[in-house]
Amino acid sequence: MLSADAIVIGSGQGGVPLAVDLARAGKRVVLFERGRLGGSCVNYGCTPSKAFLAAAHAAGRARLAAALGIHADVRVDFQAVMDRVRGIRDRFTAGVVSRLESAGVQVVHGEAAFKDAHSVVAAGVVVEAPLVVINTGTNPLLPEIAGLAGVPLLTNLNLFELTALPRRLVVLGGGYIGLEFGQGMARLGSEVHIVHRGAWLLNSEESEVGDVLAEAFFRDGIAVHLDTQVREVQYIDGVYHLMLSSGEVLEAEGVIVATGRRPNTEMLNAPAAGIALDDEGYVQIDAQFRTSAPGVYAIGDVAKQPAFTHVSWEDYRRLIDILDGGSRTRDDRVLGYAVYTEPQVGRVGLTLAEAEALGLRARAVTLPMGHIARAIEWGHDLGFYRLVVEEGSERILGATLVGYEAGELVHVLLAHMQAGSTWRVLEQSVHIHPTYAESLPSLARLLV
Ligand SMILES: Cc1cc2nc3c(=O)[nH]c(=O)nc-3n(C[C@H](O)[C@H](O)[C@H](O)COP(=O)(O)OP(=O)(O)OC[C@H]3O[C@@H](n4cnc5c(N)ncnc54)[C@H](O)[C@@H]3O)c2cc1C
Repeated sequence: MLSADAIVIGSGQGGVPLAVDLARAGKRVVLFERGRLGGSCVNYGCTPSKAFLAAAHAAGRARLAAALGIHADVRVDFQAVMDRVRGIRDRFTAGVVSRLESAGVQVVHGEAAFKDAHSVVAAGVVVEAPLVVINTGTNPLLPEIAGLAGVPLLTNLNLFELTALPRRLVVLGGGYIGLEFGQGMARLGSEVHIVHRGAWLLNSEESEVGDVLAEAFFRDGIAVHLDTQVREVQYIDGVYHLMLSSGEVLEAEGVIVATGRRPNTEMLNAPAAGIALDDEGYVQIDAQFRTSAPGVYAIGDVAKQPAFTHVSWEDYRRLIDILDGGSRTRDDRVLGYAVYTEPQVGRVGLTLAEAEALGLRARAVTLPMGHIARAIEWGHDLGFYRLVVEEGSERILGATLVGYEAGELVHVLLAHMQAGSTWRVLEQSVHIHPTYAESLPSLARLLV
């Protein structure tokens, strides 16, 4: 039995900096990791997917440049694309390894399980500590479809190992992971079908967002099947045959499953520690990341926090304060996220419907992309900017930006919201012409 001051289970986006900070503060820290150090973002998520999309969007932009009078002959070296992706990923992973090493964090490679609330075992090593932090993230959730179990599928866990581009590809799921993968593969040359059971793409957002993405995907030659489910899958001689609820049958050399996530708690033996899970298996936490077991905390995706790297990382910052006796909670932050399709989606705060559901007196204004000088000049006609504000207080409650690099631009609004500023401050700002950002004061002026 090894004795430590703190145990971190999972080297996710919050767990690594937390372990490093605690170790640098002189604590004896043991971190358990069953897979590659650095968690989903570095190894199977943000880093490789965005490196992959950099190549895909370069190809897509080159093809779409025909509308500007530029005709490119696009040839994709898929092997080189994926070698670059893996190279970047491996560099990031190595960075995590060296951060942990130089801080003196002891890493145990193995799948951790609780023996009781303060002792954890993996690979035959038992460690006990007064503080335990769970940061075990999520894994792909495979849907229950006849014939799916046992056939070789692509998910975010193995997609970046591909060495050849599937000629025909079906993506199951029209959430952001499915859309990024689907558009990326199409732009690299696959014939892509996206099968989505929602009524519009990205149906966690307003329908107009999905409509814009559907039009963009149509221009990329992607077939989108909405309100559709896969009834059965057959895998014969390397070809998938997917029977859709519409009666259509799709054939493909590859199937990507991106239909949801499930928390990595099934191997944790949470009951032995008295840690309560919800019906889906997520760790239940209070506003200060405490689980039902005293001294045991959970951060990031496994605690059903909004599933983004910046959230898990911010969880760590808040938890460090709480462990130091501070009073921060997880509830008071302005949250945004981006979808790295083209056009991008940049979101922050509430939609109009969400604001109204909270009982706020809210109002929304929208500026279509066709009214934006920069967009016209650059040939970007798809998208819109929408601002949601509170009547009376004039607070900015949220924004949805769909357009070129909208994931960057949304930070203007995020900063206003964080600073507690109002739409009038935005309206009075003088932004540079001709930029996309110039349209944000114009958007606010629609409220005058
Ligand atoms: C394809 C894809 C693209 C994404 N793109 C973005 C993006 O662009 N921007 C963004 O903000 N977010 C993105 N995300 C989400 C992001 O990756 C996660 O929200 C982020 O990694 C936070 O996860 P985490 O810290 O909760 O844990 P994770 O990063 O998931 O890490 C959990 C770690 O715990 C380990 N583990 C699990 N169980 C055990 C156990 N019992 N014992 C030991 N170790 C264990 C796992 O192996 C893993 O390494 C993406 C996700 C995917 C799948």
